[in-house]
Amino acid sequence: MSQSDIFFDHKHIWHPYSSIINPLPCYSVMSAKGVYLKLKNGKNIIDGMSSWWSTIHGYNHPVLNRSLKKQMRKMSHVMFGGITHPSAILLCKQLVKLTPKKLDCVFLSDSGSIAVEVAIKMLIQYWEALGEQRTQILTIRNGYHGDTFAAMSISDPNNSMHRIYNKFLPRNLFAEKPTSSFHKEWNSVDIQSFKKIMRKKSKQIAGVMLEPIVQGVGGMNFYHPTYLKEIKKLCKNYSIPLVFDEIATGFGRTGKFFAFQHANVVPDILCLGKAMTGGTITLAATLTSRNIANTISRSTVSCFMHGPTYMGNPLACAVASANIKILEKNEWKKQVFNIEKQLYQNLLPLIHHPRVKDVRVLGAIGVVECSHCVNMALIQKFFVKNGVWIRPFKKIIYIVPPYIISMDCLRKLINVIKKSLDNDTLFNVNSV
Ligand code: PMP
Repeated sequence: MSQSDIFFDHKHIWHPYSSIINPLPCYSVMSAKGVYLKLKNGKNIIDGMSSWWSTIHGYNHPVLNRSLKKQMRKMSHVMFGGITHPSAILLCKQLVKLTPKKLDCVFLSDSGSIAVEVAIKMLIQYWEALGEQRTQILTIRNGYHGDTFAAMSISDPNNSMHRIYNKFLPRNLFAEKPTSSFHKEWNSVDIQSFKKIMRKKSKQIAGVMLEPIVQGVGGMNFYHPTYLKEIKKLCKNYSIPLVFDEIATGFGRTGKFFAFQHANVVPDILCLGKAMTGGTITLAATLTSRNIANTISRSTVSCFMHGPTYMGNPLACAVASANIKILEKNEWKKQVFNIEKQLYQNLLPLIHHPRVKDVRVLGAIGVVECSHCVNMALIQKFFVKNGVWIRPFKKIIYIVPPYIISMDCLRKLINVIKKSLDNDTLFNVNSV
């Protein structure tokens, strides 16, 4: 990659959440293997992000690669309308088997945001089939469900990320976020705001949707499982479908295969994505109960009205199947447990650092909430210089490493975070 390539990138290519006039620096990655990203200058850095929660078994995994090559020899793609193929059938069988018995029907789509759009369309069509015009979704503050319009409309309305589009978005209902954290006592006051909205607006609500246990982009909060239990009870009482967005948390990240298992609560609709292909190709799924699927099929149009061009892409399905087969060996449990143990031992003590407001650990997620916002350009440079890839946001420095990370590499990630906290210049100390 030449200097002129870098210049081209800078001038012509949008990266996530970036400005084309004044973009933050981008680092060129030439290849990746295991937990390492290889930079243009030949340096290997340790990935603490699993490419945004997806690369759970590490990069360039031989089993995942083989599954792609094998599928490629048969076909890379074929339309899913009027056609089916063995890779999609195998993957959907695995998904139905992995998820609670109730979740029986699978809709495959392109990305997490689309899986959320699909879930919302399902809810609307479900009520239409029942002869009711219900179009509002009840969710909780500080949520995040993606960057497409319906997904934004149920993400936190005050988060600066989406605020600019507010006037364009459908109006949904937001209960206060739970304050009882995962490891602390349950405070029953937490459910009151949700309960009140349910009671007042139950006839308008098409569904309840939220991230179970971990609110990701909305602040990396881990909330109490009882909150989910209470929500499930209310949904049952009012006969309102419950949707869980497990796009970030699914496939073992929190120490359970699905985060909702911490609460023993089963949703009516489940959205999956990110780690489903082990971070290889984009693919997502929305699973529903048979009752919801059947009801949708009785709506006035009698079909579910969604069908992306690359739906059920054979390469993505094949690699997702291979990823699930690796998970079925159950090594992830020990791997995530060991990561959690080390995070407890070495990350948690950072709570005593004067710059730190809170440290939270759950499964293979470690979060350091600082008292000031980070200076993104400077802290990113600092991390890379120190041999790690960590991408913080606002006041949150967090790591979600590949499950295969060694204890030495994890120690290095934690030590570099520790070192960054000692450096005033990496934080906007005037931010509140
Ligand atoms: N839901 C959650 C909880 C997420 O964390 C994300 C992505 N960060 C999405 C949905 C959207 O997924 P995608 O980026 O694949 O569209």
